[in-house]
Amino acid sequence: MTAGPAAPRQLSSPERVEELTDNLTQVRTRIATAATANRRSPASVTLVVITKNWPASDVRVLAELGVMDVGENRDQEARAKATDCAELDLRWHFVGQLQTNKARSVASYADVVHSVDRPKLVEALGAGAHAASRALGCLIQVSLDGDTARGGALASDVPALAEQIVATGGLHLLGVMGVAPLEAAAGAAFATLAAVSEQLRREHPQASWISAGMSGDLEAAIAAGATHVRVGSAILGPRPALR
Ligand SMILES: *Cc1c(COP(=O)(O)O)cnc(C)c1O
Repeated sequence: MTAGPAAPRQLSSPERVEELTDNLTQVRTRIATAATANRRSPASVTLVVITKNWPASDVRVLAELGVMDVGENRDQEARAKATDCAELDLRWHFVGQLQTNKARSVASYADVVHSVDRPKLVEALGAGAHAASRALGCLIQVSLDGDTARGGALASDVPALAEQIVATGGLHLLGVMGVAPLEAAAGAAFATLAAVSEQLRREHPQASWISAGMSGDLEAAIAAGATHVRVGSAILGPRPALR
């Protein structure tokens, strides 16, 4: 796929534009249907399109189609894409497990970090936000299967993390995030997340985001109160192999 010689950037093929258009329409319909079925307004659910492993040209097509929120899970790839697409005015979400030594970089381009799960990371993100003179929205990732090795804090650690975020300049506590361990058990996992959110909002009423639901389980997440769904493959296609 080559752009014309004068084109500064790689362009998407008409086939790719059509594919993304159709897939996005389907996902928006799924979200609206699930919201309505739960007596919620479709506008109460924000779609974050996870573009990991797909090129910046796809992000441009999605922006043309009205997508305003995009997410990534690896710093190097995310930073390159956010830089490439800087003029599009998108909101960049970081959703992957994050090492403290990448926090400064992530704080330089991300608007929201969904994977805040330990005190050292809060410290590092605060330092990064300060260095970049930027404000960073934070979601506390909650481990929904109790296995923190795959990221996420224990529910019992959420109150202290929330206090630390609120007390850190440049960071804003937005809410909670979770990944269901198994699609089959998604309903129970998202109910747990909703309970953690309710508890959190007693102390921090503004922390109202619930980031939950992916391509396979967004309906269950919306039924449990998700305010943000993170959808990749249902829109972009099956993930290509890691480069
Ligand atoms: C990749 C990813 C998603 C999107 O998953 P799909 O199944 O492709 O929709 C959502 N959340 C996180 C944390 C991810 O890493």
